[in-house]
Amino acid sequence: PFDVLVVGGGPAGASAAIYAARKGIRTGIVAERFGGQVNDTLGIENFISVKYIEGPQLVASVEQQVKDYNIDVMKTQRAKRLEKKELIELELENGAVLKSKTMIISTGARWRNLGVPGEAEFKNKGVAYCPHCDGPLFTGKDVAVIGGGNSGVEAAIDLAGLVNHVTVLEFAAELKADAVLQERLHSLQNVTVITNAQTKEITGEDKVNGISYIDRETEETKHIELHGVFVQIGLVPNTDWLDDTVERTRIGEIVVDSRGATSMPGVFAAGDCTNSPYKQIIISMGSGATAALGAFDYLIRN
Ligand code: FAD
Repeated sequence: PFDVLVVGGGPAGASAAIYAARKGIRTGIVAERFGGQVNDTLGIENFISVKYIEGPQLVASVEQQVKDYNIDVMKTQRAKRLEKKELIELELENGAVLKSKTMIISTGARWRNLGVPGEAEFKNKGVAYCPHCDGPLFTGKDVAVIGGGNSGVEAAIDLAGLVNHVTVLEFAAELKADAVLQERLHSLQNVTVITNAQTKEITGEDKVNGISYIDRETEETKHIELHGVFVQIGLVPNTDWLDDTVERTRIGEIVVDSRGATSMPGVFAAGDCTNSPYKQIIISMGSGATAALGAFDYLIRN
C-alpha cells in the first residue's frame, strides 16, 4: 500500500505529493488530467517569484519536479469511490482499487459555464472567470460581470477600481448578493446593474467586442459593446464522487481543519475542492504542502 495517495494532479496535488515524497514515504498521485485548471490558463502574473508564466509551461515545470522524486504518477485515471477499511481504499473508474494509509484529496473545482455562443470561443480572449487573475488585463476598458450573487458583486466592486466601466448582468429580478456588498456596489459611479437579463451571446471577432442579452421583461434583445466578460455564476468543486464519506459544505466543498484534515481520520484535502475561501494557484500549493505535512504527522502517530 501507499503511505500517501494523492487524488488530483493540479497545483494542490503536485505540491502535496512532492512534500510527501520528500519524507521518504511511499507516495502516489492519481489524476485525470495532470495540471488541472492551470492547463487552461493563458498568462499567470500572480505566482509569486515568477513574473509571468503561461499555464502549460507552469504545468510542465511542476511535472518535471514531480518526476524528480520517487512518486508513482497514475495519469488519465478517475477516482470513483472512497472507502475506509483497515486501510483507505480508492476505487477507480477502471475498476482498480488502490490502498493507502493516508489520502489527500485535491480534485479541484470548475467554473460553471454560461453555455452561450462565444463563451468557449473567446475564453482567454476576453472571456474570463477569475477577477484576481485577469482583472488587471482590462485596466481602463469596459467589462461585464455575469451573475449578481456574492462572487459576481465582489468581482464587480474589485473590477470597478481597475476598469473604465462595469455592467453587472443578473438573470433574476434582483441581485442575490449580501446587502452590504450591494450597498457598496451601488455607491460606485462606474457600475451599471441590469436585472432580468438573460445572456444570449458573447460577440467578437478575434476577441470579445460585446454581449447580447434578452431583457426578460420586454423580451427585447439588447447589445452592449465591451472588451471583457467575467462569468461569475459559481465555482463547482469536483467532489460528487465522495458522497457522504467526508463532511462537505452545502455547496460540496470538503471541510478541512488547519492541518488539512477532513472528517475521516487519515483523509486530508487541499486546494479548490476544499472550503478554503480563496481559490488560487499559490494558495492551492500552500494547502497541498499543509495536507502532506498533516498526513505525515498522522502517519507517525498511528
Ligand atoms: P485543479 O487545478 O482544479 O486540479 C484538480 C485535479 O484533480 C486535476 O488533475 C483533475 O484532473 C483532477 N481530478 C478531478 N476530479 C478527479 C477524479 N474524480 N479523479 C481523479 N482526478 C480528478 N489562479 C491563479 O493563482 N492565477 C491565475 O492567473 C489563475 N488563472 C486562472 C484562469 C483560469 C481560466 C482558471 C480556470 C483558473 C485560474 N486560476 C488562477 C485558478 C487556479 O487555476 C486554481 O485555483 C488551481 O488550479 C486550483 O488547484 P487545485 O490543485 O486545487 O485544483
